[in-house]
Amino acid sequence: MPTAKLIDGKAFSAKVREGVAKDVTALKTNHGITPGLAVVIVGEDPASQVYVRNKVKQTAETGMNSFHFEMPADTSEDVLLAKVNELNADPAVNGILVQLPLPKHINEAAVIDAINPEKDVDGFHVINSGLLATGGKGMVPCTPLGCLLMLQDTLGDMSGKKAIVVGRSNIVGKPMAQLLLDANCTVTIAHSRTKDLAGEVAEADIVVAAVGRAEMVKGDWIKEGATVIDVGINRIDAPERGEGKSRLVGDVEFGAAAERAGAITPVPGGVGPMTIACLLKNTVTATCRQNNIDPDT
Ligand code: NDP
Repeated sequence: MPTAKLIDGKAFSAKVREGVAKDVTALKTNHGITPGLAVVIVGEDPASQVYVRNKVKQTAETGMNSFHFEMPADTSEDVLLAKVNELNADPAVNGILVQLPLPKHINEAAVIDAINPEKDVDGFHVINSGLLATGGKGMVPCTPLGCLLMLQDTLGDMSGKKAIVVGRSNIVGKPMAQLLLDANCTVTIAHSRTKDLAGEVAEADIVVAAVGRAEMVKGDWIKEGATVIDVGINRIDAPERGEGKSRLVGDVEFGAAAERAGAITPVPGGVGPMTIACLLKNTVTATCRQNNIDPDT
């Protein structure tokens, strides 16, 4: 029987989006500014298309301006860079997101580098990762920011807690570890060369799994009462649902982990919905900073 509290990312993200909508109204009413988010997608990757459609819809729902650019898969790097520069220069655009992955002939790092760091609402620009690492005020990547908000909502003060982040990617694992460190946790970062992953996880009060391997963090590794945030999204075969059917699972063995954890995010419905909500939140933050506005006014 699961005993863990379920951390409902769907409900929590709706609250975050409501807060964003209120901020957007205040920006319009008090300052005459409508935040604008530009999303650029190159090619026809079906998963990216679905994700971008959701972003565009949710951006409009908060009252922001949504600018959406679809470019063909054979777009050259120069043409994409020119589009980024055009958006950098456009005062109606406060946030720019170039959907990754890009087609192989385009250098992703060069494109991210070209985005004005103040408009980099994905928080991937090296200036923003540097600011995060040195305690400055940059843009924080959306998925780790969503995880942090859920952890703060569940645990309140995290000072002194032992946290483990499994995974060290630039977009999830590393910034997540940095945010936990800023929240005064004692942080371990595990990766594919970690010896005794089970032993490391068993020590942790907070477990964030961002690996991309279905249910690889086993339920019996989890310390009793720990808080578990599962970032992974993995599609696995589900013959029990019928021939050719599949389902989504996380990086954590949910059923067994829920019997030991104090609180846990489900997949789907946990971290996923928070990512877009944080993108919208970052767009408001970027708009306020670009206009020297205190976000509470
Ligand atoms: P990456 O593939 O970039 O990174 C995976 C990390 O996991 C690497 O650091 C790798 O270690 C580590 N790893 C791989 N195998 C093991 C292992 N056996 N033991 C310990 N560590 C291991 O993935 P991302 O960070 O981009 O994404 C991780 C997951 O999160 C994916 O499932 C992705 O779909 C999901 N995701 C979900 C989002 C959401 O909105 N919910 C947003 C972004 C990602 P090493 O560095 O040594 O290779």
